[in-house]
Amino acid sequence: MIPLDHGSAFQLLAATILSAQCTDAMVNRVTPALFARFPDAPSMAAADPAEVEELIHRTGFFRAKAKSLIGMASAVTDRFGGEVPGRMEDLVTLPGVGRKTANVLLGHWFGVPGIAVDTHVLRLSKRLGLTDQTDPVRVERDLMGLLPRREWADTGMRLIYHGRRVCFARTPRCGECVLAGFCPSSSLRR
Ligand code: SF4
Repeated sequence: MIPLDHGSAFQLLAATILSAQCTDAMVNRVTPALFARFPDAPSMAAADPAEVEELIHRTGFFRAKAKSLIGMASAVTDRFGGEVPGRMEDLVTLPGVGRKTANVLLGHWFGVPGIAVDTHVLRLSKRLGLTDQTDPVRVERDLMGLLPRREWADTGMRLIYHGRRVCFARTPRCGECVLAGFCPSSSLRR
């Protein structure tokens, strides 16, 4: 389950955009007021940027995020009749939406499995010996080849959270890691 509170595809997309460089807990503190005021794409598309900035201020990078939210909502309203599209090729055309964000939407709202590859997934996939690629699209392809389809969406999220909490970029906590027994990069093997 994705820990971002939402009641629609639009709200999940908006919350995912807000979660960049921000904790999910903070996003969940901000979205109730944001979604009460702008619950869907048409209302957000017509929003005053200053009001959106004020509402999302605490998530950081609020000017860029407000621009992405309003741009995304305008594109959804103008090009997709106000409904967030359920295909990767359409999602990545929306402002502020890359493959990672699109995969979150596809996996957790539309039930279309994919693996959201962010910096944590890239790092952990390499450390765990699951890929020797560095390009996110190729890493995504390698992981999909290794895992059963039903595991794709959740595995992506598990790697992201393991990267945030245990397998840090600079100082991975191998001594506390449940994967240390078979991880080829574990410092416990040295
Ligand atoms: S054993 Fe260390 S390097 Fe391997 S996944 Fe765990 S924390 Fe990361």
